[in-house]
Amino acid sequence: MIVLSVGGEGHGAADRAVERCPACGSVQLEPVLEYRTPERNSFCRACGRCWHVELGQVYRITPPICFGCTERPRCEAVYAEDQARAQGH
Ligand SMILES: [Zn+2]
Ligand SMILES: [Zn+2]
Repeated sequence: MIVLSVGGEGHGAADRAVERCPACGSVQLEPVLEYRTPERNSFCRACGRCWHVELGQVYRITPPICFGCTERPRCEAVYAEDQARAQGH
């Protein structure tokens, strides 16, 4: 059995953009380039959450640090909802 490695493996994997939303599983992720930084973020069109990849880990971006976000109002609204839910409402 031959397994073809399509990029990803080895070096370069750490800064790949998010391929699938960790929250809703959607693949409708759009790259968000942060203002004047080489950081690479992804905005999920399906649920409105923004993600950041660092060292192979995916982190949720909070609206205050979501620079360059093109969907800010939605990003903030969804985050506020998630916070309320996390507090048991
Ligand atoms: Zn999503
Ligand atoms: Zn955002």
